[in-house]
Amino acid sequence: MKHPVRQSAPNLADIEPYDPKYIPAEVMISANENPHDVPADLRRKIESAIRAVDFNRYPDPLANDLRDQIAHANGLDRDNVIVGNGGDELLFNLALTYGGPGRAFLNIPPTFSVYVNNAQLTNTRVVEVPRRADFSIDEDAVIARLAQGDIDYTIITSPNNPTGDVASEAFVRRALEASDALVMVDEAYFEFSCTTVRPLLAEYDNLVILRTFSKAFSLAGVRMGYLLANECVINEFKKVRQPYSVDAVSQAIAGVVYENRSAFAPGIDAIIAERARVTEALGAIEGVQVWPSGANYLLFRVEGAGEVWKQLLDAGVLIRDFSRSARLENCLRVSIGSAEENTRFLDTLTQILGQR
Ligand code: PMP
Repeated sequence: MKHPVRQSAPNLADIEPYDPKYIPAEVMISANENPHDVPADLRRKIESAIRAVDFNRYPDPLANDLRDQIAHANGLDRDNVIVGNGGDELLFNLALTYGGPGRAFLNIPPTFSVYVNNAQLTNTRVVEVPRRADFSIDEDAVIARLAQGDIDYTIITSPNNPTGDVASEAFVRRALEASDALVMVDEAYFEFSCTTVRPLLAEYDNLVILRTFSKAFSLAGVRMGYLLANECVINEFKKVRQPYSVDAVSQAIAGVVYENRSAFAPGIDAIIAERARVTEALGAIEGVQVWPSGANYLLFRVEGAGEVWKQLLDAGVLIRDFSRSARLENCLRVSIGSAEENTRFLDTLTQILGQR
């Protein structure tokens, strides 16, 4: 018998490790990634930027060059920006900064599952105001719950993952005014909806915006995200961050990509155009209900979704199965890939449903 180990922290008992269900397939359209890698000329610039990195030295802890670039592009100061090891790290840091024992997070499900996980890891109480059956936010219910005054932070995901809807600025404003709770607007996909609540930073100290390099900028493999907020909020986030969570190589890569971000505009436009085509084509398939989306993915509902997902995978097309997730019965999510990938997905789905 091996020597035993004592139990881990009690709040881990109900937590499942995050599983992206990333199974190798010919067509990978499950994780809302960009279908195209960084363009070749930018990769060359990145390679020379990496050559200039001193691997034996610690990186700049706060990535100040990158902060300056992001601040400048957003009409803000360095003190309004903080970067993280992907948006995911910043979401965890949100729970560390504004959550904790005796504190409460207002969640608006169905939404990104990582939010609740982070609350559980930090012993933060989760209060839920679910979306309506059509996945629209029950705005009055959210505002009324915030107005009770005991919520420490909430997250409005816009566009929402996995439902794709964009929150209205009027609603975000009401949420900001309902109490002094910190309101994060998760804009991980905002480049595909072309909407942001950034101008509201000038009026509200309780607003923080999350962005990522993983989607529009094709850098999911590099891990780079950032927050925009007022200096008082950024200072709190500085207190909880791992000093060197954003490594020197990622800083170098992100610097080149951000400087040349206009190179990604055609790719973003293509995804937006393809999203319209796939939305229409999906809606035309009998038995399929599709929701409008401002992101680079679509949520749709079909009878026997779990089986459909499996048949798609058997045919080489990996999408995301939400059919066993709470409030997402028979729902599947497909990322917008290249035109060829999208056509292959649509053809395969039509064939599967036609054989029923
Ligand atoms: N927010 C939302 C809504 C997301 O879907 C994701 C990516 N799955 C993230 C944040 C974090 O992305 P990343 O860690 O790749 O920056």
